[in-house]
Amino acid sequence: MAEIPEQARVVIIGGGIMGASVAYHLGRLGVSDAVLLERDRYTSGTTWHAAGLVGQLRATENLTRLCRYSLELYSQLEAETGQATGFRQPGALALATTDERFVELRRTAAIADYLGVEAEVLTPAEAQALWPQMEIDDVVGAIHLPKDGMVSPVDTTMALLAGARLAGVRTLQGVAVEELLVEGGRVTGVRTGQGDVRAESVVLAAGIWSRDFAARHGVPLPLYAAEHYYAITQPIEGISAKTPILRDPDHSAYFKEEARRLLIGLFEPVARPWAMDAGADFSFHEIPANLDHVMPLLERAYRRLPFLHDVELRQIFCGPESFTPDDNFVMGEAPTLPGLFVAAGFNSIGIQVAGGVGQALAEWIIEGEATMDLAEVDIRRFEPFHAGRPFLADRTAETLGMLYGMHWPFRQFETARGVKHSPFHQRLAERGACFGETAGWERPNFYAPPGEKAEYRYSYGRPNFFPWTGEEHLATREGVGLYDQTSYAKFLLQGPDAQAVLQRVCAGDVARPVGKVVYTQWLNVAGGIEADLTVTRTDEESFLVVTTAATRFRDFHFLKAAIGEASAILTDITSGLATLGIMGPGSRALLAQLTSADLSNEAFPFATCQEIELGYAIVRAMRITYVGELGWELYIPTEFALHVFDEIMARGEGEGLKLCGFHAMASCRLEKGYRHFGHDIGPEDTALEAGLGFAVGWEKDADFTGRSALEKQRREGLSRRLLQFQVPDPEVMLHHDEPIYRDGQRMGLTTSGGWGYTVGAAIALGYAKGEPGGLDADWVRAGEWEIEVAGRRHAATASLRPAYDPASRRVRG
Ligand SMILES: Cc1cc2nc3c(=O)[nH]c(=O)nc-3n(C[C@H](O)[C@H](O)[C@H](O)COP(=O)(O)OP(=O)(O)OC[C@H]3O[C@@H](n4cnc5c(N)ncnc54)[C@H](O)[C@@H]3O)c2cc1C
Repeated sequence: MAEIPEQARVVIIGGGIMGASVAYHLGRLGVSDAVLLERDRYTSGTTWHAAGLVGQLRATENLTRLCRYSLELYSQLEAETGQATGFRQPGALALATTDERFVELRRTAAIADYLGVEAEVLTPAEAQALWPQMEIDDVVGAIHLPKDGMVSPVDTTMALLAGARLAGVRTLQGVAVEELLVEGGRVTGVRTGQGDVRAESVVLAAGIWSRDFAARHGVPLPLYAAEHYYAITQPIEGISAKTPILRDPDHSAYFKEEARRLLIGLFEPVARPWAMDAGADFSFHEIPANLDHVMPLLERAYRRLPFLHDVELRQIFCGPESFTPDDNFVMGEAPTLPGLFVAAGFNSIGIQVAGGVGQALAEWIIEGEATMDLAEVDIRRFEPFHAGRPFLADRTAETLGMLYGMHWPFRQFETARGVKHSPFHQRLAERGACFGETAGWERPNFYAPPGEKAEYRYSYGRPNFFPWTGEEHLATREGVGLYDQTSYAKFLLQGPDAQAVLQRVCAGDVARPVGKVVYTQWLNVAGGIEADLTVTRTDEESFLVVTTAATRFRDFHFLKAAIGEASAILTDITSGLATLGIMGPGSRALLAQLTSADLSNEAFPFATCQEIELGYAIVRAMRITYVGELGWELYIPTEFALHVFDEIMARGEGEGLKLCGFHAMASCRLEKGYRHFGHDIGPEDTALEAGLGFAVGWEKDADFTGRSALEKQRREGLSRRLLQFQVPDPEVMLHHDEPIYRDGQRMGLTTSGGWGYTVGAAIALGYAKGEPGGLDADWVRAGEWEIEVAGRRHAATASLRPAYDPASRRVRG
């Protein structure tokens, strides 16, 4: 029986590639007082049957950084540890059989180039020169990533474990962790059949078993297993270790060489969720293949390599892999159980990202916060409902195929929909709303005119809703638009210390009179933005916090953790308040018909809030805007919501009131240069770099997290700044992650993009970098700017100020 220690700084649960990588990196970073516990044998979960592809590119810069680091690490791991890893770099080809897919591939190649990943765009014939046996009659184009690689997942895991042990970390097999030890709401160790291990931190890297283990401790961890297939052929002449990996996403298949055989992997659009009834004894097992499911998929794959019809299959393999509701993995500290870190839900890229994730998580544990922006994979992006079994089972059928599906701009999930509805839902549906999903909410994204179907028809060019969103945008700019913003998250912080807590957390000064609305950020110690929201004093000891739907769980727990011993209570009141935004120059006149309240500038200035009568209801009206116009957000007790809506519509419909969706809001806010958390701002962007210095309470007499970092940056000058861009070419559509150039030099990627219907051009935000202190308006004006889309650079204009109403006259008018 293995001897387990009584104590360790960190305990890692799970001896798959992820646990091994965390152990390796903890050791490398000097935390040798760590122990990894594997209940069976190392790699016995999902790792042993992975195909072993190690691609370098992901959809975003930071995830690509994790993959590139993994590749680099695996390339030298054998030399470092003496344990073979099977690492090699035959390169990879990805094919497009439609024009839109080719646009997508060329967009990917542009990002790759910007990120320093070698990528070349090829004609079908050039691609065939690299893979002579393939059929190219339907191929439109391809990209080639000559440095993409592969490893043996088992050997690589063993090498990581060997490296961990070399650094003094203990790794033990045959030790199942039965439960976590929890004291005072914090993890203090683990219980095993061989005794307890006390620890400061515990890492849950238990693969598909992580969800149920976490659930037993009250931690929602949304992942669910799906059947994941590949087939292996007999040896084939002409296939060798040099044969590049071949990806044919339009046929949901990839091909990779394995001992002169071909492994044919599948990413089918509709997958089979797996019941997860394997229990603990599933080690080194496989799921019996469902031939009715897999054979037609293989037939489709053979379209690319017709000779495979004559090649015998040696094996059809099916193993479980975990998938998450948004197809991104899950890492970080559980907000409901401090001290518990997770690394799970890898959506079939666990080998590819393990190196980077292991390093990032080890740093996170040591530093106490993430050392890079990992918001898109942070466990806090999910709410508890995401971890429900019926939700996950339905969503998992869709997520497996997403890896090879089209990554359309505005793509919406088709499964597990209809989770949360605002009270207005039915009314909006009757008026042509097309809903999109955010954090489970069905939100009106645009309205189809009578006679048109309220549905998405995606495109990398102008989508079907382009003109309808344009009308909504212009109604907001010239008349009055009505937005259903019920999905916004709302919290109430109350108590004698409520102000003191918020003064510590907010960069802005919230010690303001009752009714004042403060737009503010919550920062980390480096001055990076952790949240972007408004705080309104509603009473001497009571504050209303309003933030985005997508960050509800994250922001709630951020603030809750900050309360500590202070005397304040935080309550999530999202469900109690429906929200309507009445936005546009006509909003005052329309509202005036419905309320006796004085809405003049003097009586109701910008960034203030009052309770007003509206019809038979009393609502909280907040004069604030995310579209850059005169307007009010109405926070309505839910039971009054329909009454208020009907009143507004009855008065407004004859006066040009238009229902508007979130796409119109996005277009308006881009023109106005309003930032969006998760796109334009995040933990790696300081408030100053983001151009939000105006929202910082420099003079306030309370210290706040991030203050000294901001003050230092203010003294030294910025070497990075958020700019607004316009591309005059009317054919160009910007979305995000398009490379930005100044005088031919790479600057960064756009952080968000869209169409500005008032300025009449594609518009984007993005960071530029340069000499500290040198990035002023003259420098911006002096540059020749370009934005690259799908391999073509387009002339752009850049500005520190927004294109639309830079002095905010309309907002304050
Ligand atoms: C068919 C297929 C092909 C794939 N191909 C690729 C590919 O080409 N490239 C790629 O990047 N990814 C691929 N993947 C995905 C990859 O295999 C996984 O993402 C990765 O192996 C996950 O590793 P892990 O360490 O998180 O989980 P696992 O390997 O499952 O490890 C978890 C470990 O935790 C242990 N454990 C569970 N509970 C406990 C407990 N209570 N106490 C102690 N130990 C416990 C388990 O025994 C297990 O060993 C593929 C997956 C499949 C199914």
